[in-house]
Amino acid sequence: MKRREFITKMGAGALAAGTGVTALGAAQAAGKRFRWKMVTTWPPNFPIFQDGVKRFAKEVRRMTRGALTIQVFAGGELIPPLQSFEAVSQGTVEVGHGAAYYWAGKIPAAQFFTAVPFGLNAQGMNAWLYSGGGLELWREIYAPHKLVPFPMGNTGVQMGGWFRKKIETVNDLKGIKMRIPGLGGKVIAKAGVNPVLLPASEIYTALERGTIDATEWVGPYHDLRLGLYRAAKYYYYPGWHEPGPTLEMIISKEAWEALPRELQLVVENAARASNLWMLSEFEARNLEALRTLKEKYHVQVIEFPGAVLAELKQLTARTLQEEASKDATFKKVYEEYQQFQRSHDAWNKISESAYARAARDR
Ligand code: CA
Repeated sequence: MKRREFITKMGAGALAAGTGVTALGAAQAAGKRFRWKMVTTWPPNFPIFQDGVKRFAKEVRRMTRGALTIQVFAGGELIPPLQSFEAVSQGTVEVGHGAAYYWAGKIPAAQFFTAVPFGLNAQGMNAWLYSGGGLELWREIYAPHKLVPFPMGNTGVQMGGWFRKKIETVNDLKGIKMRIPGLGGKVIAKAGVNPVLLPASEIYTALERGTIDATEWVGPYHDLRLGLYRAAKYYYYPGWHEPGPTLEMIISKEAWEALPRELQLVVENAARASNLWMLSEFEARNLEALRTLKEKYHVQVIEFPGAVLAELKQLTARTLQEEASKDATFKKVYEEYQQFQRSHDAWNKISESAYARAARDR
């Protein structure tokens, strides 16, 4: 260590020790300030998703007393929403927020870090990522792209979607057009549905005009805001295709490594706090919105018939196996994920699920 650098570091340390200020104060005293740009895949006022990101940036700024400031841009404000992966990967901006399954075209295995049909719920995803080796695997897979991923947000189990006609048997799925992206779309296509991709802005009109027969979106809170109850009568559950989608924050490796350890810790912990905040918001807002949909708009909330779910579950296993045979990384993540999910299912069956059943039947 050079002499001057040594003295600076000692000075900052002594200042911290002498005045009782934190290590952050020391970093500030050393005069290091970081200004990051963060781009998201969300529309500007998208509740919970974009709100959570803005909240995160504000908390980081306050906790670091301005040593790290993050300027947040919604999708399209700085760069197109689905180009955020490249923008952060190339270091054009330091941070991004979105969902890993948006990058399925580049990294098919990324889908496991958001949600896969009949996969882990929010609690299972957090357990796998934080405590079951999932996050290490995620970081390993993003490393060649010079990205460090963090779980940051979860919608909880979504709804199955809005249908203009009742779904009573597997046959009722045949030939219908449904807005449903990703692996869920691939699975349901095998049951005869024609899956289509539509951005949020076009869903309502397409459903209302009958251009599509069904759509999935998020859950009661976001679906209510989109007015989908005016375009279709039947609201099906559960969201078998998105059982607990994790949202992601990606940080450019270079920017991350340039950050002092104490600031890294703030970012890491603020991301964990945001992960919990978003999940809690979804839970609380969804239950209010569900009540509104049922009581005010008389929406018919219906469970998918068991035979339909059983068929979709079988088709999911087939789809995942097909995808695994096409891509070695997908296969590797699938195997680890599946192993964790099997154990989680066994535990869940006698814990959360059993409790939910007991509470419901009470
Ligand atoms: Ca969805």
